[in-house]
Amino acid sequence: MPEGKIIKALSGFYYVLDQDQIIQCRGRGVFRKNKITPLVGDTVVYQAENNREGYIMEVKERINELIRPPIANVDQAILIFSAKEPDFSSTLLDRFLVIIESNDINPIICLTKLDLLTDEEKIHLMNFVNDYEKIGYQIILSSSKTKEGINELLPYLDEKISVFAGQSGVGKSSLLNAINPELALKTSHISSHLGRGKHTTRHVELIEINNSGLVADTPGFSALEFDELEAENLSNCFPEMAQRSSECKFRGCLHVNEPKCAIKNALENNEIADYRYHHYLQFLQEIRERKPRY
Ligand code: GDP
Ligand code: ZN
Repeated sequence: MPEGKIIKALSGFYYVLDQDQIIQCRGRGVFRKNKITPLVGDTVVYQAENNREGYIMEVKERINELIRPPIANVDQAILIFSAKEPDFSSTLLDRFLVIIESNDINPIICLTKLDLLTDEEKIHLMNFVNDYEKIGYQIILSSSKTKEGINELLPYLDEKISVFAGQSGVGKSSLLNAINPELALKTSHISSHLGRGKHTTRHVELIEINNSGLVADTPGFSALEFDELEAENLSNCFPEMAQRSSECKFRGCLHVNEPKCAIKNALENNEIADYRYHHYLQFLQEIRERKPRY
């Protein structure tokens, strides 16, 4: 039986993309007994009735599952930050990165509105860019106005399911519009507070880009609390800390006051940026305040 990906779910129908065809399917088969509700992003086995309609018979195991927007098998989050208006904030960037890393999703950072920067401001921003690149993050510098960086971003979307993320006003809709006008429709309704929508989005749809990548038309990661994250897992969401933590003397070292801590050591040698470590401590505190230790 053929396989495809659900790109839209609406009124009891699932729209399954298989090669270049979209099959309108209803659910049927064993997954219903297991109380699995097919999600946008799911890979499914379907039985075709004809070349336009069919039945979903099986939902393949998911890599992950986002709640808001409800979407399965997200490969990567394109994290949009404006270089200016609003100003770039490394605290907010790190907050997003931790949330995304803790969901086992690969983040790609895209800084936009580069056209608004003076040369001096650009040099200042490049310090951050170098720091994050050194950690191993991919960063794209772009502007929807001058179209700089757009062609650089496109190949990242190939063969993947991507969700755009970022605060309101950073330029998500403009960037999506530069990539594909169809995509900008729903994101333009997102209002104020960290991308929480004024108009509650009822469904999410995946839009095909370049005949290859699938991009969600609703931004993700609007809630930026560390609800699910345990203190001992926080440093795993900072790659430069994660790769060193096995060298700490104590297992379960939280890298705060413990002796012979590889992270504190790296910090003293300037191998880890002060502000990154500072954000780590700040988030750790938040997690501890959420769950008092007994
Ligand atoms: P969203 O809320 O993240 O979707 O942000 P929008 O795409 O709606 O953009 C917010 C504002 O920033 C709008 O007034 C845009 O015209 C402006 N904007 C977006 N991208 C750029 C850019 O690359 N350069 C400049 N100068 N302005 C931009
Ligand atoms: Zn340590």
